[in-house]
This record gives sequence, structure tokens and C-alpha cells, in this order.
Amino acid sequence: MQPFTTLSYSNRILHLDRLRIEHKILHQKEKQREFAKRPPCPYCNQTHVFKYGISPAGLTRYQCSACKKSYTTRSGTPAHWLHLRSKFDKYMYDMMFNGHRPLKTMATEFNISFVTAFDWRHKILASLNCTPKQFQGLVELRNSILPFSRKGIGRSKAANTAPEKTSLPVQLIITADTEYNASIHVARIGKLKATDIEVRLKNRFSRDAAIVSRVFEDKAGKPHHQSMAIKQFSKSNHLSIQQFSNSDNPFDLDDKNSSRFDNDLKSLIFNKTRGVSSKYLQHYADWTTLMRMRKEIKVIQAELYQNQQGWAAYTAREACFQRFMQEYAEIEHIRTSHRVWKTNTLNLNHNK
Ligand SMILES: [Zn+2]
Repeated sequence: MQPFTTLSYSNRILHLDRLRIEHKILHQKEKQREFAKRPPCPYCNQTHVFKYGISPAGLTRYQCSACKKSYTTRSGTPAHWLHLRSKFDKYMYDMMFNGHRPLKTMATEFNISFVTAFDWRHKILASLNCTPKQFQGLVELRNSILPFSRKGIGRSKAANTAPEKTSLPVQLIITADTEYNASIHVARIGKLKATDIEVRLKNRFSRDAAIVSRVFEDKAGKPHHQSMAIKQFSKSNHLSIQQFSNSDNPFDLDDKNSSRFDNDLKSLIFNKTRGVSSKYLQHYADWTTLMRMRKEIKVIQAELYQNQQGWAAYTAREACFQRFMQEYAEIEHIRTSHRVWKTNTLNLNHNK
């Protein structure tokens, strides 16, 4: 290109104009890139947001153009409203390494109140990411049941209105493949249906996946309804399935991975805790799964702090359980918690 000083006056003007336009385009692109990097509003998911100063913790604050609420990247995550982050981190590590320990012990050891110990436990469990994207290869699909529990209702006013103790079981679906992927889903209270499995596991199997499943039989040798539901689910999803029972197992099939998860969860519920309310059963199921999956603690931690639905999933536990009961239970939901949080209006993803 010709040096600028040798250009004629009109060419200098033209050249400067071109530079100005190029600069403007670059500036706009840069701005767009910067905009795309901004976290969307955790309250309403709007992506058009402004910078809004710095938070006391030194994080960039944003303001949503739609709902006008301000937030940081920490809003909505379990670190929301958290003042003792390093202690909280250690608490999480302890939960993942040592598994369940009584809340009283945890409260004393971490020098926090019993309520905080309870809150932290469930804040962490509500934010965990457990269900793997896809199960591969030989996948064990197992059903299991636990008794329904309204633990915690004794202390609430609702105790007077509680109906007779129910004998309906909580139906669990346990999935485990040979790659250490696993999940436990609380699927229904009452009689398990194929659609209950479908809701949780549809499209979660890779094309090469082959299901093996143990059939449980009654005294007359008739398969339990859960085994029929598993078969029906596999058929309607075009998955290959091999079922076997104690009396009929010509290929010597096994379900030791999934039965291990089953036993882990049952030993936690029956031996380590003094019973778990069905409201929190999914949390304990996720905890059990994560303890056995070979996931690095750093990965668990990163996922925890990136989960912008974590806070909502935790504070809306009662509402989520109510929804679950309405859709998947043959008995009535009774509200036991009336706690209200300052911010419990976060946009909620009802996966848990
Ligand atoms: Zn918003």
C-alpha cells in the first residue's frame, strides 16, 4: 500500500473513512463476542444483559434488560448467599470421600449449626449432576423398592391431617453399565409402569447398548410387574434385552454392578441414617451413585458451581416433590416444609 503522506487530499479522506468503518465493524464484533460471553439471566434466561458494577466478592455484576434483576455468575448456584465458601468446599469433599456421617457430627466438626449442616448437605445434593448422557455396552437395568416415608412430618402441623401409614412402595430404577456410568431414579410411589422408566431413561442408551435385567418372581414363579414394565420399556424403545431369573439363566448373566448400587443405597437408608423422607430420597440416591462412579472430585466441584439451577432445585424441593407426587404417586402429598427463601423465584428446571 502507498504511504499515507504520499496520498492526495481526497484519497487521504477516502482512506480514513475506510479505516473508520473497519474499526467500527471490529468494535461491534468485539462487543458481540463480549455479549455472548455474559452469563444469561438466571431469573428469566434473557441473554441481553448489561454490566452492573462489581459485587462485594469481586465478581462482575450483571443486570437483566428484561426483568431488571441483577446477578453475578454465582447467582443460582449453590454458592449463592454463601459466606463460608472454603468451609463449604471442605464440607463437599468430606461428603464425597467419607459418604454419609450424622449431621450432628458434621455440625460439630465444621463448627456450624445443625440447620446449616442440613442445608449444605441438601444444597450440594440438589446440585449434583448424576445421570450420564448415555449408557453403553452391556447395561444392567434393575428395579428395587423402598418403603414410603413421611419422615419429618411429626414436627409439622400437617401431622394431624396425615392419612394412615401407607404400604405403597417407592419404585426405584437402577441403571449401570460397564463404563462406571450409573443412575438411580425414584420413579413412582405405587405400581411401576413402563412409561415411568421411559420418562427418565428415554434416549439415554447408545445404539450398541444391550440390556440385561434380573426378573424377580413370586412364589408361584410368576414375574413381578416391575420386570414386565422393564421388558415393555425395552421393546417400545427398540432396545435389545435379555432377562434372566434365578431359575432360568442359561447364559450365566449377572447384574452385580446394579445390585451393588442397590445395596449401597439400602445400607445408607437402613443402617447409616435413621430413615430418609421420600422427599429427599432422590438426593440420597444421587449421593450413592456419585460415591461409586469414578468421577474426579474436581469435576464434581466444577459442575456444582456451574449449576445455576442448584439454588432453585434446593429451595424448591417441597414444590418439586409435590409435582412428583401429583404425577407419579397414588397417594396424597402433604406439605411438611413452610420455609421461605429470599430468592426462591429462580427459573426452575424440573429434572429432579
Ligand atoms: Zn431477567
